[in-house]
Parts: sequence; structure tokens; C-alpha cells
Amino acid sequence: MKDLRRIIKTTIQDFLNEDIEFLLNKESDDYNHIINDYGVKDITKVHSDIVKFSMEAIETFKNKIDLFKDIRIIFVNNIGEGALGRFRSGTSSSIPIVILSEKDILEGSKEYNVPLWVAVETTIFHELGHAICELEYDLFGYEYLEYGDEEEWVENFAYELHNYGDIPQDLETFIKEYKQKHE
Ligand SMILES: [Zn+2]
Repeated sequence: MKDLRRIIKTTIQDFLNEDIEFLLNKESDDYNHIINDYGVKDITKVHSDIVKFSMEAIETFKNKIDLFKDIRIIFVNNIGEGALGRFRSGTSSSIPIVILSEKDILEGSKEYNVPLWVAVETTIFHELGHAICELEYDLFGYEYLEYGDEEEWVENFAYELHNYGDIPQDLETFIKEYKQKHE
């Protein structure tokens, strides 16, 4: 038990030190805009389970959807309107940024009585669904993704991926076309 705790701690520490998924360049415009809009929360002060579940959610997403090399998650103090997360629009063509509110994830998980990892994973999948929609629109202008309502498409996408590890047919087609164009 003690060892397991240590392993988890070490993994998170390594992860933070490696600076991969969570830290944006502090000099970047994106980072400064996010600070101004929401306030950035120090990652070392975020609930370590939420950090771990976020890491895992990104891995799960990347294993299924080969569109983004890097994905960044930034924890902020407050997104507003009780939102758990938000996709930073305009970032899908480079490194998509997902903004998360730790406080609202904790509250949402309690309020809807869902395990914390589920709240984290579905929020991240939902927001990355918006990144997919933006990328497809910018490149192909709604040629492949079939949605009347983006919010509905994104919800369904997150649901399928979370529950069954599946991705919708139209997304599969889009990924194929994207890879053809970019490889
Ligand atoms: Zn949404």
C-alpha cells in the first residue's frame, strides 16, 4: 500500500517534471490570455487524482484519435456558469488547449453522483470533441462530420468513447481524409 502510494506520487511528480501535457509556455499569448480570462491554477495544488485522471483521459483519447500530437490541459480558477471545462477555440490546428475547473469538477462529480474519473474523462472528451469539430471545419468546412448541432455531436462523441471506446463513423472518415492530406 505504501509502495503504491509512492509509485503514484512519483509518477505524477515525473509527469509534472516532464512538463508534457499540462504546461503551456508561460510567455505564450495563449497562456497570458487564459490567465486574464480565468486565472491559472498552480498544477501542484490541483487534486492529484484529477491530474492523474486527466493524464489517463488524454492517453485514451490519443490512442483512438490520431489528430493531435500534443494536447494541453490548463487548470483555471473559474470558468464561469458552473462549467467544468472549456475548449480554447482557435487552438485545434496547433496544440488544442482544454481548460478545466477543478472546483466545478469536484462539485459536479458530487452533484451528479458520478465517480471523479468519469467526470474528468467525459469533460475532457467533450471539450476535445469541440477541438475535432473546429479542425474539421477549418480544413474541410463540415464536409465529413455530420452534425446539425455541434453540442449534440460532441456529447454523443464523448459518450461513445467513454462508454464503449468507439468513435463515430463520420469521425473515422474525417481522420482518414485528414491523414491522407497530411502524410
Ligand atoms: Zn460543449
